[in-house]
Amino acid sequence: MVFEKEAAAYHLPRAVAFDSEIMRIFQSLGLADRIEPITGQGEGMRFVAPDGELLLDWSRPPGITPMGWRSGYLFHQPDLEAILRDGMGRFPHVNTRPECEVTRLDPDGGGVTIKYRHRPSGDERTARAYYVVGCDGARSFTRNVIGSEFDDLGFHEPWLVVDLVLKKPRPDLGNHAIQFCEPDRSATYVPTVGNRRRWEFRLNDGDDPEKIIEPDVVWGLLERWLTPDEARLDRSAVYTFHSAVAETWRRGRIMIAGDAAHQTPPFMGQGMCAGIRDAANVGWKLDRILKGHAGDELLDTYQSERDPHVREFIELTVKLGHIINTTATALVSGSATPPGDGPQKLNQLIPRLGPGLEAGLTDLTGSLVPQPRLSTGERLDDTVGWSPALLMRTEFALEISETLSADLAAKGVEPVDDPAVEGWLDEIGFQAVLMRPDRYILGAANSLDEARELVAAA
Ligand SMILES: Cc1cc2nc3c(=O)[nH]c(=O)nc-3n(C[C@H](O)[C@H](O)[C@H](O)COP(=O)(O)OP(=O)(O)OC[C@H]3O[C@@H](n4cnc5c(N)ncnc54)[C@H](O)[C@@H]3O)c2cc1C
Repeated sequence: MVFEKEAAAYHLPRAVAFDSEIMRIFQSLGLADRIEPITGQGEGMRFVAPDGELLLDWSRPPGITPMGWRSGYLFHQPDLEAILRDGMGRFPHVNTRPECEVTRLDPDGGGVTIKYRHRPSGDERTARAYYVVGCDGARSFTRNVIGSEFDDLGFHEPWLVVDLVLKKPRPDLGNHAIQFCEPDRSATYVPTVGNRRRWEFRLNDGDDPEKIIEPDVVWGLLERWLTPDEARLDRSAVYTFHSAVAETWRRGRIMIAGDAAHQTPPFMGQGMCAGIRDAANVGWKLDRILKGHAGDELLDTYQSERDPHVREFIELTVKLGHIINTTATALVSGSATPPGDGPQKLNQLIPRLGPGLEAGLTDLTGSLVPQPRLSTGERLDDTVGWSPALLMRTEFALEISETLSADLAAKGVEPVDDPAVEGWLDEIGFQAVLMRPDRYILGAANSLDEARELVAAA
């Protein structure tokens, strides 16, 4: 059951970008083919000083990455949400309750009693669930029920967000997002999709949030780039960007995910992405528990795996925020190429999961398996579905015993041996790797015994 207090999806965008891993998750949902056509291709982000000097270059590589998708996608959030909501209609067992606000959660030994208010009628109603995941945003009611405090990562700033629709083409604005690192008034330009464009401006001390959203003030801020003849103002709003991670993501049968569990300034375009990763992580674990394949201690690994992963993004974002406000690039030297004559280069951040599930040889545990196209022409994930998979070198696959094959079938682990996978296994020096349903590595094996251990752990 999905309870949503609003009647419909929000008609204005917040997020505008997602990365290759998120497209891979949409692929697992069977929706990538519908989502890809509504996306645009960003070329990455540039951090520019007031005198025009390029301080930091975070250009995205063009083309398909090892994830099987491009490294980044731009999108218009209402279009994406329409596809996701429509996609949910494929599952008759998913019961969506719009205009229903959850007001109380009472856990007991066998489940959780959910009290909710049907807003149009004011009726108070009750439902039962085995588990509850509160994806109820930054002001999460569920987080209060869990009783979690926030670990404050130090960045809290109000920014004006302005969305526009161009009336005439302006190719000179470019396809790179640009961070104008200007201590007097930092600003961000984001190309987004089609003729949509976004600017963001940091509020300075003394700025009135009510005044700064007024059209004449907004056009004054934009005049360097654009005039009212060239674009229509879609909306202007002030958001306070926060950086924080909830200390507790789960109490028994109740969990939190998304902004309820963590918040980041949007400079890396990772807030929504992190929430979608939470859902992908906890989703397959709940499925295993509800089908009786695992005990609910499996859920202990939800926060332990996800919290350090999202923290890496938030911590780097906070550093980038300081660059935007001060131009001091030395702050990111750990994650960028060492400072030289030219601008520093920032590489895509692909953290590993924190400690959680592991089995067999664990050198690569918690990193993502790449997604090649197999010799059938199909992408790896489409071949295995939403299952764990044992990826094997061909010779190793020929050697595995009948018992191991039977174990694979009994455990619902898909065996995969294919030249495309073999190339990657050769590179990392393993005979076999067990991939979890969320495409992360559980562990690896170099012998039959180790492979048996892996499959047993699955
Ligand atoms: C300006 C800006 C730019 C951004 N850009 C990006 C970007 O490019 N890429 C990116 O990945 N992220 C970006 N983000 C972050 C992203 O928008 C958020 O991380 C994301 O929307 C959080 O999603 P969520 O589902 O966790 O929470 P929300 O979007 O807040 O959704 C929570 C939902 O829960 C419902 N709800 C709340 N309480 C209850 C209740 N008691 N009962 C029933 N329903 C309830 C609400 O009505 C709401 O629909 C940006 C954010 C901002 C502000």
